[in-house]
Amino acid sequence: MRDLIKVTRDKMTAAVLYGKQDVRIEQIPIPRPQSGEVLVRIRAALTCGTDLKVYRQGFHARMIVPPSVFGHELAGIVEEVGPNVESFAPGMRVVAANSAPCNQCFFCRKQLANLCQDLQFINGAYAEFIKIPERVVRQNLLILPDSLSFSEAALVEPLACVLRGIEETGITEGDTVVVIGLGPIGLMFVQQLKSFGTTVIAAGKRPNQLALAAQMGADYVVDSTHTNVVEQVRNLTDCRRGADVVIEAVGVKETWQQAMGMVRRGGTINLFGGCPSGTHIPLDSTLIHYSEITIKATFHHTPRHIREALEAIRLGQVRPRTLITGEESLGSLGSVLERLLNRNGDLKIAIIP
Ligand SMILES: [Zn+2]
Ligand SMILES: [Zn+2]
Repeated sequence: MRDLIKVTRDKMTAAVLYGKQDVRIEQIPIPRPQSGEVLVRIRAALTCGTDLKVYRQGFHARMIVPPSVFGHELAGIVEEVGPNVESFAPGMRVVAANSAPCNQCFFCRKQLANLCQDLQFINGAYAEFIKIPERVVRQNLLILPDSLSFSEAALVEPLACVLRGIEETGITEGDTVVVIGLGPIGLMFVQQLKSFGTTVIAAGKRPNQLALAAQMGADYVVDSTHTNVVEQVRNLTDCRRGADVVIEAVGVKETWQQAMGMVRRGGTINLFGGCPSGTHIPLDSTLIHYSEITIKATFHHTPRHIREALEAIRLGQVRPRTLITGEESLGSLGSVLERLLNRNGDLKIAIIP
C-alpha cells in the first residue's frame, strides 16, 4: 500500500543558491526518506523576507552555505515515508514548519522551544520534493484540512511567529495597538489583531500597503513618509497618551526608535523586526524608566504556535489570499526574487513546482 505512489526517477528540479543573487534551476538527486522521515512532493512554496535576505547576501549565517537549496514555507503531498513512520502515509496533504526543537536543552525545558539551542531547520522548499527530518515529522508536520489550499497552508510558519508575538506582548481586547511596517508580517499582525477586538493603527510607507491595511480592517492608517509619524500616532490616541502596545515589524533603527516614542506610559513595545547585525540603538533612559516602558522582542515559533496558526487560517482570522499576490513556476524563481528586491508591490508569491 505504502509503495503505491513511490517516485520512480532519481532526479528532481530544484532552485540552487550559488551566491549573491545567483539562483540556478538544476536537476539534483531526490532525497530518500530514512527511518522516521517523510518525503513531501511540494505543491506550493511561499517567498519570504528571509529568503530575499538570503538571496541578496548569498548565504545565511546559521543555515545556508552555498551551493544550497533554500526556501522554507511549504505545503504538499506525502510522496513516500521511511520506516517507523506511523502517522503519515502517501497521498496525505501536509504542511511542515521550517524547524523543530530538541525538547531537551535548557530553553526547551523552560518552555522556550523557539530559543532551542539545537533547533533543527529545514530548507529546500523551492524544489519538487523535500525530505522532512524525523524531528520535524514528529512535532511540526501537520495534516491539512480539506478546506485549505496548499498556498494558504504554507503561510503557517510566518503566521506562527506573529501569533507568538501577539501572545508574548500580552495584548488584550480593547487595546490600541500600532503596527509599524506593512509587509506581509505587518499585515498579518493587522488581520490577527482585528480578529481580537483591538484598535489598530497601521503605519507604513507604500501607498498600496496602506490601502491593504485599511482593507484588512486597520482603524487608522498613518503614512510615515511625510510627516512626523510619532506625532501622528499620538494624535490618534486619547489625550495623546500613546498606544498601549507598539509592534515594530520593519527591522531598522529608525522604526525601533519611533516605536519608543509612540507607546503610552506603562505600555509595551515588541521589536519584532530583526535589524542588520551590529545595529546599536540609543535609549532614552528617562523615558524607559519613569514611564515604565516594557521592551520585548519575539523570535520564531514553537510547535504549539504552528498548530494555532493552522487553526487561525482555517477560521479565516488571517486570510492568506490577501497576502499572496501571485503564483509563479519554479523556473521563474530568480526573476521573482529580483522583482521582490525591487519592491514592485508584490507581497508574497506562491512558487508552484
Ligand atoms: Zn519565512
Ligand atoms: Zn532545545
